[in-house]
Amino acid sequence: MALTITDECINCDVCEPECPNQAISMGEDFYVIDPKRCTECVGHFDEPQCVQVCPVECIPVDPANVEDKETLWAKYRRLQAQG
Ligand code: SF4
Ligand code: SF4
Repeated sequence: MALTITDECINCDVCEPECPNQAISMGEDFYVIDPKRCTECVGHFDEPQCVQVCPVECIPVDPANVEDKETLWAKYRRLQAQG
């Protein structure tokens, strides 16, 4: 599953530099996660780094982007190949 950021985001800028996949960017009103780039940090860390640092706990898993571990690993390898 990719993660998603809810409208509880306070735009504190803390998560964006922590993402190893450059999946987080500023959206129209608050930060957003690109589901094509979010691996739940699989391939990089044991825990999602954005969730670790978010002060308001507004980054749940995205039920619209359900993926198993194998799919997340495949996404990680694809992103690595892209450089
Ligand atoms: Fe980036 Fe990891 Fe958060 Fe996904 S879970 S947005 S890869 S920091
Ligand atoms: Fe928003 Fe949380 Fe990221 Fe801060 S860490 S910008 S509150 S999602």
